[in-house]
Amino acid sequence: MENINNINNINNINNTQNLYYFEEVNKNQNKNQNIVNKLQNNDNINNKQKIQDLIAKTHELAEESVVKGCGPFGCIITDENFNILALNHNRVTELNDPTAHAEINAIRDACKALNNFNLSNKILFTSCEPCPMCLSAIYWAKIKDVYYSNTRIDARNIGFDDDFIYCELEKQIEDRSLNIKRVSSDNSLTSFEMWKLKDNKLSY
Ligand code: ZN
Repeated sequence: MENINNINNINNINNTQNLYYFEEVNKNQNKNQNIVNKLQNNDNINNKQKIQDLIAKTHELAEESVVKGCGPFGCIITDENFNILALNHNRVTELNDPTAHAEINAIRDACKALNNFNLSNKILFTSCEPCPMCLSAIYWAKIKDVYYSNTRIDARNIGFDDDFIYCELEKQIEDRSLNIKRVSSDNSLTSFEMWKLKDNKLSY
């Protein structure tokens, strides 16, 4: 149930998790130009350029993906200084894996590179607003900063209806198009009890 509850809540963007629409970043940074000193201005301009370059790179990955016959989506994960840790594109049709979205692939690559399932303090850049699955993965990976470029509406306009799933999540379970029913058994909670009692467990 924890998973389902989390997925139900993913539209309520946590205040500690920053999801930037790229034009908003530009607007806010422009608004702040007058109240920071010159050095900070230079840093902001440098960061702004790095962010712009990384978003452009996600689009290059998306174009590469289309050429390969995969979906038009690219993703990059960097450290807090914008050094690239992982980059990937959509590989659903290549791998026959409906979960092989660009963000999922990049998260897996970054975790493998760092030998860690926790990507806190890392930054994710994606060519398009994350779908609910990828947004959930971003939360599970503890990533706090996300920059995206195209919107879910842009994606819907070319046939990728992420927006449909977002709308489904706003409905009560019984009103969704998915047939999902709760079934319990005598040992339903055994593994949960085992987990609760386990010493030295690696929590995530
Ligand atoms: Zn996705």
